[in-house]
Amino acid sequence: MNLKELYQEIILDHGKNPRNVGKFENFNKDAKGHNPLCGDKVHLFLKLDENKKINDISFEGEGCAISMASASIMTDLMKGKNETEVKEIISKFLDMIKEKDDIKSELLKDDEKMKLMSLGGVKNYPMRVKCATLSWHALTSALEDFQKEVTTE
Ligand code: ZN
Repeated sequence: MNLKELYQEIILDHGKNPRNVGKFENFNKDAKGHNPLCGDKVHLFLKLDENKKINDISFEGEGCAISMASASIMTDLMKGKNETEVKEIISKFLDMIKEKDDIKSELLKDDEKMKLMSLGGVKNYPMRVKCATLSWHALTSALEDFQKEVTTE
């Protein structure tokens, strides 16, 4: 299996069987995202402790395989991370998805980088970039206390 096939495999897996789906009981923060161009919707639920560490995170949503895979991979990755770590990972991910060929971060294990890189195939397709980044923008808005829905437009 070459790298491209491996990346496709990861996206298909997470797109078909997304992890961390469903609202959980005691969330204390949530945020919605909407990508009207593709019709993707996500609703994130977070349990933040007093230091904004993510104790739990899940999502509900509907949309294309890329948007669902991205939300699934992101929620897997962010569980247990504190605010500083979350912000660094978001910024590295957005850099990679828009222009860079790699992700360099001490916070990520190799298999986690691999999962994020699998979404990097959208780089040359601006419409798809919006699918891949939707849940990430929603996470930023959840941490920044915005209450309105994020939209990619
Ligand atoms: Zn989409």
